[in-house]
Amino acid sequence: MITDLALSELLGSNQKYVERIREMAAGGSRSFLFDVEDLAELGGFDVVREAKADPTLFLGYLKKAVLTRLMVEEPELAEVVGAEWGRVRDRLVGKGEREVNYLIPIYPRVVASEVTHESVSSLLSAAPNTLVCFRGVVVAASPPRREVVVPVFRCLRCGAESVGERVDFSVISPSTCGERVDGDTRCGGRLLVSAEESVCAITVQLKVQDVFDVAADSQQPHEVTVSAPEEVVRRLSQGDRVLVTGILRVSSLLRYSSASLFVYVEALSVERDAKDYRDLNLTEEDKKAVVAASKQPDIKQRLIASIAPAIRGREEVKEGILLALFGAPAEVNPDGTVTRGDIHILMVGDPGVGKSQMLLSVSKLVPRGVYVSGPRSSGVGLTAAVLKDETTGRFMIHAGSAVLANGGVLIVDELDKMSKDDRGALHEVLEQQTVTVAKAGIYTQLPARCTMIAAANPKMGSFNPNMSLAENIDLPTTILSRFDLIYILMDEIVPKSDEEVARFVLKRGQEKAPAYPPEFVRKYIAFAKNITPALAAEAEELLTAFYVQVRQKCAAAGDAAVKVGVRQLEAAKRLSLAHARLRFSSVVEKVDVEAALRLMNHFLEKEGFLTELSQLEVGKTSGELKSEERAYEVLKNMFTLAATAGAEGIPEEDYVLRCREEGIEERYVRKLLEAWKRKGVVMEPKNGKIRPV
Ligand SMILES: [Zn+2]
Repeated sequence: MITDLALSELLGSNQKYVERIREMAAGGSRSFLFDVEDLAELGGFDVVREAKADPTLFLGYLKKAVLTRLMVEEPELAEVVGAEWGRVRDRLVGKGEREVNYLIPIYPRVVASEVTHESVSSLLSAAPNTLVCFRGVVVAASPPRREVVVPVFRCLRCGAESVGERVDFSVISPSTCGERVDGDTRCGGRLLVSAEESVCAITVQLKVQDVFDVAADSQQPHEVTVSAPEEVVRRLSQGDRVLVTGILRVSSLLRYSSASLFVYVEALSVERDAKDYRDLNLTEEDKKAVVAASKQPDIKQRLIASIAPAIRGREEVKEGILLALFGAPAEVNPDGTVTRGDIHILMVGDPGVGKSQMLLSVSKLVPRGVYVSGPRSSGVGLTAAVLKDETTGRFMIHAGSAVLANGGVLIVDELDKMSKDDRGALHEVLEQQTVTVAKAGIYTQLPARCTMIAAANPKMGSFNPNMSLAENIDLPTTILSRFDLIYILMDEIVPKSDEEVARFVLKRGQEKAPAYPPEFVRKYIAFAKNITPALAAEAEELLTAFYVQVRQKCAAAGDAAVKVGVRQLEAAKRLSLAHARLRFSSVVEKVDVEAALRLMNHFLEKEGFLTELSQLEVGKTSGELKSEERAYEVLKNMFTLAATAGAEGIPEEDYVLRCREEGIEERYVRKLLEAWKRKGVVMEPKNGKIRPV
């Protein structure tokens, strides 16, 4: 049997609690950690079960016991708390002890060591008013608000006081003043809540959702409203994975006069459940296995092969993604600012080159991966939204995918199709790694420290090699320049490779794959994430040389070259650090920088992107690009004609003529056709005649 006396004895005899209560009092707090399993000291597990079955009663006794202990330890505080409670007690005539004790303004953070409900959805079938403990992720939170717990009303006519009732999230008031004024006549005056006399508490409301497995789950995850005293949810933010212990309440107020009941949790504790890379709980065996694997000469190749094993080739893309998963440690600069260690990657390419498949495969390799697809990321989107909650009437800040991915990887498909708001916030997400909310009188900044691996489609359906990157994708260069690596994936039609592709597809599954299973890759990365490699002198020299080289290459851009140079240098450094982590090396050596630079040069040189970056950095928008774009359109239309004209095609001069009619200069047409011939998009079957392949 639990009584306040027994509990008070437990708190006084268990040294842990003596100290915790002392600390609480010294810190001016009204909250301390209490492990419900410790109740076993009072008489075995039956007592624990009893508390879990009727937590309201247990909590009332616990609060009363704390008050008793405070009288010994900290009489002054006990007096303040006692006086506050006294006001409540005096007004609650006719209420039972359990309700009255429960209102003592002390908020023990009660934790249970066992999770009772594996998912938020399973809470639906839990018994009302019992103790539940479940895992989830905070998707929305309200700012702290002063809330009426026991409403006291005052009559506007005669000044009499009456006590109302709080039911779930509403306050129920008597309709009019019931004070007798003359014999049987009642006053009947209007009543107003008295903020001064009502019993209030500062509370926070959260929405907690199932931690969903991005790859497996296509359904909308379940969520539950959690209401808690501010004391027990401090230092939490949206995107945090939490362990909630609380009392399951089933609202007696019917929603929209329908028959469905509203379930919520009155939280006793909301603790951070830091289950990210670092807390993947690697066993000694796991550690031995990954360390052994790291010593294999082909470890990098095997890890690369473990990314999207169903997609053939694209090794350089996979390597970039792999390094992004390892990431680099964030660096705190002398002025207190932080240089991000997260590596952002963008793939731009024709439809059907396996971008989405690649992204889905990556999402299986990260414990904290959030997958979104541009047009489908409706509602909250990438950043955050302030929405009014229908049930509680409070404004809540709902976290977008970038916030939910904090500390993990944000995987975005169809980045080009994002909403305008999200696009505007991309900068902040990629560079400062925060999301700023300033809506409905709420101003706050949420952390969004995540790696972004994204894919985008070309604006015109397929990638046009003769247009700039920014012209190809519907994204400004200032955003593009925040990606450490950009890959352009084209579906080049070469018959020989078609044959190869067919052969590969047919053979798939028969070959012995050198790839590791996703769980192993996760563990490997988790282990490596604890390594903070230092730069060797040789590595530093190589990076410096790279910086000088980049600056020289875009020297024409003047001042902008400095900006571009520094950004590329930071990217190269991050990739080098990640590569050292891949080798489980605490030193960044030549081999790491070389690998990083090879990846960087792959896109910087091949795509001529560096010049473009520096040009656009100085704000040069070119009319030239416009002309090329129009030439492209005209030529594309002519190809349809050429295809019907037969195998020979149309004379090159005809293309030039047609474009001239459209006011497009000859040199653009020639340049475009030349490039297409080189890339095998068009062919020249007979002298001077051209047709698409
Ligand atoms: Zn009255």
